[in-house]
This record gives sequence, structure tokens and C-alpha cells, in this order.
Amino acid sequence: MNQSSIYGLTLEQLRSWLPEHGQKKSRASRIWEWLYQERVHQFTDMTDVRQECLDVISEHFTMNSLSEHVKQESADGTVKFLLRLQDGNLIETVLMRQKYGLTVCVTTQVGCNIGCSFCASGLIKKSRDLSGGEIVEQIMHVQRHLDAAGQGERVTNVVVMGIGEPFDNFQNMTDFIEVIKERKGLAIAAKRITVSTSGLPDKIKEFADSSLQVNLAISLHAPNNDLRTHIMKINRAFPIEQLMDAVDYYLATTNKRIMFEYILLRDVNDQREHAAELAELLSSRKSMVSVNLIPYNPVDEHSQYQRSTEESILGFYDTLKKNSINATVRMEHGTDIDAACGQLRSKQMKNNTPDPQSGRLALG
Ligand code: SAH
Ligand code: SF4
Repeated sequence: MNQSSIYGLTLEQLRSWLPEHGQKKSRASRIWEWLYQERVHQFTDMTDVRQECLDVISEHFTMNSLSEHVKQESADGTVKFLLRLQDGNLIETVLMRQKYGLTVCVTTQVGCNIGCSFCASGLIKKSRDLSGGEIVEQIMHVQRHLDAAGQGERVTNVVVMGIGEPFDNFQNMTDFIEVIKERKGLAIAAKRITVSTSGLPDKIKEFADSSLQVNLAISLHAPNNDLRTHIMKINRAFPIEQLMDAVDYYLATTNKRIMFEYILLRDVNDQREHAAELAELLSSRKSMVSVNLIPYNPVDEHSQYQRSTEESILGFYDTLKKNSINATVRMEHGTDIDAACGQLRSKQMKNNTPDPQSGRLALG
């Protein structure tokens, strides 16, 4: 049986776990420092923790749920990691260099059941959720990559925008956030963490009621139900009215802003009239929302979609601005290394022989 990852425990959970297994609660802080500040690779490296305590911990937990399968570095400094889980499944994690810091994009599920029509991740049905520990270990893997370079660089920002729908793995995703926020550990500030969802209204409300304080992004991609259902079939189950009801609940409960993501697909959703309709949809929430326009990263299997022209992107942006909607155009990272979500994984799977049931690779 696979052991669970020690990185899945919050500091509080570690504090309760130790006495339940005959160990002193007070050791939790030191173990936590070894994990997140010293960033040791194995339990035996925790030299000032009693052997008996280490034995009990290593009987129950692993520190190594992930191993590196492929690493690709892009000319702009983006690094994409294809990581192998203990059960052989492959996931992606991306490091991006931005003006304001180093951002890691994490995966939350093996595949995705939402199946958006433009997305490489949705090509492969979800075979399982990642555990909280497996999500935290992605950050640790990247941080160790930075440590090895010896420049003293730290992961400062996290986006939950890799493979999977984070709100379909809610508990593990929230445990992950608790762990990486912990002041005595990685100490990643809540305002520098963003979770992106395809828009599950009940979960958006639950997220609003949590005390996580991190940012929310919602993948909208269309200004009306017909078009949104065409692009994202999840809209059939949760149409825009229900989504906006959850948005208003979130805004009223948290008083925090929401970012809407909008992929621009040529001649599908990228015309000025779409922008005007989007502005109208958001008009009563203007001061609390922004729109992030995402140039589409073409995916071989979704050849019905093409990237918008520069003229359309500017026209769309301009129409939003004229209607006083905050908008930005997403800077791209690592397009030369397939850095859009799920693309490296789906390419690797094509070059190998995936198990058609699980989507898992049989790699020698
Ligand atoms: N499932 C969540 C989070 C992961 S996807 C969600 O859908 O929000 C993160 C973002 O990447 C989403 O906004 C998604 O629409 C975008 N994305 C997916 N495939 C893309 C592609 N080929 N080009 C550009 N953006 C893409
Ligand atoms: Fe899943 Fe997000 Fe891709 Fe849609 S865009 S298939 S929700 S990962």
C-alpha cells in the first residue's frame, strides 16, 4: 500500500498526531522546521529528533510521493516539471518567473472530469484526486530545484491552475493551502495564492465561508449561456445565473475581488459584441471584478479552435475598458515548452502507450 505523505499534515494535525502515537506534541515544531525550512530529503536527516520518534513517523508516512520524470526549461525561465506519483500516474507542475516573484502552478487531480472543449487536461478523464500531501510536494519539488541553484530564491506565489478542478477536490485543496500558508513553514502569503475554478456554485459559496483568505479566479470564457455551454459543458449543470448568484454571495461574504478568466478563441467568443455583452453581465459588480484575457494556447486534439488575432484581442480589451471593466491580457510563459495546462502530459501520453482505462502511462 502507498504511504501517505507527511506534507499532507497541517501543523495542528501533526501536533495531534504525535501524542496519539506515543510521541511528544512539542516535537512538532522542530519536525516542521526540518520539513519546510531545512527542506531535508529524508527523515533520517532530522538529526536532533529522537530515533524512536523518526521510526514511528516513517512507519506511517513518506516524504517522497513524487519523482521527477521530465523537466523542460524555456528560454523565458519557465520550468515545466512532469512528475510521477507513487502509483505511476504523471502530473504537471510549472514554475514561472514574473516581475513580482516566482509563481508555481500546481495540479490537483489526475485528469479532469469537467471536460472543457478547448483544454488538454479535460481530454483525460479524472482517474483520481491528488492528496493534500501530493499537492504540497509539488511546491517542495520546485523549491528544492531553486535551492539546488544556490541563489536563495523562494517560491512566492501559487496558482491552483494546473490539471484538474480544485473545487472537485475541495478538502485536499484547502488542506494544501493551510500547509503552504503556515508562518513557520513555507509562509506563502494568502494574498499571493489564487485558486481557479470552472465555476461550481456550491463550492464557491463554501470557499467564501472558509477562512482561507486566498484569491478566487473563475473560468468564465463566454458572456451568455449558449456560448458558454458550447465551450464548457459544465454550464449545462450550472448556468451563468447560478454562477453569478454564487459570485454575489462570495463578494458580499468576503469583500474580496474576483478575477474572471476568459480564453479568447478566434471567431468563437472574441468579437467586440461578446466583450460588450460581458461588460453588461459584469456591470453591477464593476468595482469588485476584473477580467483576465487569455490568448488561447492551441491544443492538437482541439483543432476546431484557433488563437485570436492581435487585432481581436486588442478590440476585446478596448471594449471592456470603454465600459469601465478592469481588464488585463495574460502574459504567456513557456509557450515553447507546452506550458498550457495539461499539454506536456498529454503529449507524453501520445508518445508512449497509455492505459486507456486510467490514462496512466506504462513507462519503462
Ligand atoms: N479547472 C480549473 C483550473 C485549471 S485550468 C479551471 O478551469 O479554472 C486553469 C486555466 O487554464 C483555466 O482558465 C483554463 O481555461 C485555462 N486553459 C486551459 N487550457 C488552455 C489552453 N489551451 N490555452 C490557454 N488557457 C487554457
Ligand atoms: Fe478541467 Fe479546467 Fe481544463 Fe476545464 S479548463 S477541463 S475545468 S482543467
